Amino acid sequence: MISIQNVSKWYGNFQVLSDCSTEVKKGEVVVVCGPSGSGKSTLIKCVNGLEPFQSGQILVDGTSVGAPRTDLPRLRSRVGMVFQHFELFPHLSITDNLTLAQTKVLGRSADEARKKGLALLDRVGLSAQAAKFPGQLSGGQQQRVAIARALAMDPIAMLFDEPTSALDPEMINEVLDVMVELAREGMTMMVVTHEMGFARKVAHRVIFMDRGAIVEDADKDTFFGSPRSERAQAFLSKIL
Ligand code: ADP
Ligand code: MG
Repeated sequence: MISIQNVSKWYGNFQVLSDCSTEVKKGEVVVVCGPSGSGKSTLIKCVNGLEPFQSGQILVDGTSVGAPRTDLPRLRSRVGMVFQHFELFPHLSITDNLTLAQTKVLGRSADEARKKGLALLDRVGLSAQAAKFPGQLSGGQQQRVAIARALAMDPIAMLFDEPTSALDPEMINEVLDVMVELAREGMTMMVVTHEMGFARKVAHRVIFMDRGAIVEDADKDTFFGSPRSERAQAFLSKIL
């Protein structure tokens, strides 16, 4: 579903991604971890075309992300992205947050978009909040709305960038629970997170990045059981 082939990226002279290659198959959950500044956010932003890259290739369901003729808005509408900061539209109600892109980008009728949005809101346990505004919800609730909003677009894959790292500890699990359920339903997911409990529960593979490079790309049991690189070992010993 996602194929990253020898991707390198520079900011001026600074190489932020260094010959990164990996694949995420349909239905696979891949957790990306690594020290701050190692390029995790940059890598997943490249996957849905939010960041350009200078060399290599990324294919999403066969579409080349970097190719000049690729319709990036269309691609982005098919790959859901959830960020650390929920990025809901603050001036729109929860219902309107859930329906806006469905009507504007996918051309769904207001009625259809509303039905879909409310069904997804129910799925993340927030039916009662439909008429509220983002500022009236807790961080954990806002992040669940953000996930529902992404799902409303019927994405072929979901990208998460540290979705729980801005949350108070007591709200982390309510968001992770939604993600675990999504993973178990077979959603293709690339998840930047340091929540190793989540990784152990649902990841198929774990990627460890350091200084712009993928230094470890292993199935979950290998990664947690016997990480090959010293850098991954040191990282795990600090966060586990
Ligand atoms: P991570 O998500 O792993 O913490 P990032 O992908 O956000 O890492 O950043 C990787 C590196 O790229 C960092 O050193 C960061 O300072 C640098 N970087 C990120 N965005 C920019 C930018 N717009 N211009 C220059 N450097 C950047
Ligand atoms: Mg980051």
